[in-house]
Amino acid sequence: MASSYTIGELLTEGYTVHGFCFGCGTGRPLDLAAIAARRGRQLQLLEMKRRLRCTVCRGRVEICLSS
Ligand SMILES: [Zn+2]
Repeated sequence: MASSYTIGELLTEGYTVHGFCFGCGTGRPLDLAAIAARRGRQLQLLEMKRRLRCTVCRGRVEICLSS
């Protein structure tokens, strides 16, 4: 399951993660390297998603993986 990946594994395997806000429609790529540097490579993707908030409206952000 992709959702059980850690940030480190996503970086190693070259995945890109986009975040999309349901509230205002803002979409942007997430900087995995910066997140790994700040929170550690062991951070789980699901845990990261739970903490994500839209920078525009503070709404919930859904994530989309692509390789
Ligand atoms: Zn938003």
